Amino acid sequence: MSEAISLHRQYLAGDFSLVDRLSQHLTAVQAHSHLNAFVRLFPETSREQAEQIDRRRADGQPLGLLAGLIVAIKDNLNYKGQPLTCASKILEGYRAPYHAAVVERLLAEDALIIGQTNMDEFAMGSSTENTIYGPAINPHDAQRVAGGSSGGSAAAVAAGLVDLALGSDTGGSIRQPAAFCGAVGLKPSYGRVSRYGLAAYASSLDQIGPIGKSVADVALALKVIAGADRRDATATAQPVDDYPAKLSEQPGKTPTIGLPRQFFQDGLDPQINAAIEQLCDRLKQQGVSFREIDLPLSDYAIACYYLIAVAEASSNLARYDGVRYGYRAEAGDLENMYIRTRSEGFGDEVKQRIILGTYVLSSGYYDAYYRKAQQVRRLIKEEYQQAFAEVDLLLTPTTPTAAFRLQEKLDDPLQMYLSDIYTVTANLIGGCAISVPCGTTKEGLPIGVQLIGPPFRESDLLQGAALIERTLHAF
Ligand code: GLN
Repeated sequence: MSEAISLHRQYLAGDFSLVDRLSQHLTAVQAHSHLNAFVRLFPETSREQAEQIDRRRADGQPLGLLAGLIVAIKDNLNYKGQPLTCASKILEGYRAPYHAAVVERLLAEDALIIGQTNMDEFAMGSSTENTIYGPAINPHDAQRVAGGSSGGSAAAVAAGLVDLALGSDTGGSIRQPAAFCGAVGLKPSYGRVSRYGLAAYASSLDQIGPIGKSVADVALALKVIAGADRRDATATAQPVDDYPAKLSEQPGKTPTIGLPRQFFQDGLDPQINAAIEQLCDRLKQQGVSFREIDLPLSDYAIACYYLIAVAEASSNLARYDGVRYGYRAEAGDLENMYIRTRSEGFGDEVKQRIILGTYVLSSGYYDAYYRKAQQVRRLIKEEYQQAFAEVDLLLTPTTPTAAFRLQEKLDDPLQMYLSDIYTVTANLIGGCAISVPCGTTKEGLPIGVQLIGPPFRESDLLQGAALIERTLHAF
């Protein structure tokens, strides 16, 4: 059974008080302050909530699915009354006027949200180093990054500071840090989870999802956060399965899994390749059949992703003008106020992307870059549709390397961007994808294996991921 579900049951049975558990976890967060996983804690609010939940338990009132559990959210999800910065100076002084839809849903199920986690500024990055708070640190090696952009959420889960954490994934930001830290990270299909109250980065790619210690834990979190929301027109009315229940059902058949040839070529660390080969051998012994899949457009995925993401970002970030949100620079006139606010408020990576995004949307270059990228996106989507006509799921590495060293890629944006090479396509096609721990390198760094499924096939994806987890535990 899932660790989270059994904790929840122990809580219902009266095995511990939430107030006590909260103070233990807050102490653990302090003891792990070197990880820099949290940017903000809510000690008073969460203490009041813990007391209230404990009281309701004592009174025999019904409790939500997450009662007893400790949760964190990324610093790009609005929590009413608390600051929200997206790890950027430009949001200095801003306070959330409302809860994000996912926060409402977590609270409605009695999750105890203890704070917000470190991230790359506006979710732009792969290492949680582009942040005004200083980098998040990998719990397995203090010299290495936690991954990004949801690095704080992944580090918090991996270090046991919380049971579950939410991140956001535009091109890999849940799965890549989960892989680097040895946690499970799920990017739901586009539209599965309401984005209401998520600070937008690239709206056609962004999706909120959970990071947890096991597949069953993220299945539980998904059940809570998924579903239609009239405040986000892209949040689908497609039915939400009882994902944890699906995991205890015997799957109808063992899945057919595709291995995309292009994901196992140059640039992949041989140790990761070997770990995945070994996993596939063991899965074969469980009756899984594998098929090699050709996805020749994979070579264009990174370029396509970074054109679309920066274009959408340049438009979304236009709202931070010194008038409507947060930080405002002193200046004699309006135009200089805009210029100085944005020059002082945004970090270098964000500025670089706004400039690139504005360029690819400008009238002379729109057709050559932005429109072309949209066309390539459509072709990639069709290529995946064909693949999913042959196989149920695709299995790939999550990342080409294990966690890299702090600073290692900061001056080389292309190298940084390439760490998303295996994750961005799931966002481009709107599919669902998950990273599951798959052993460690000889240096002891976690390795992640990724499963990708077609849009809205989370139940199949989670069953496949649980099979991987069981298979690895059996050896
Ligand atoms: N690293 C990718 C980027 O910088 C993905 C980020 C994300 O998923 N938010 O755009």
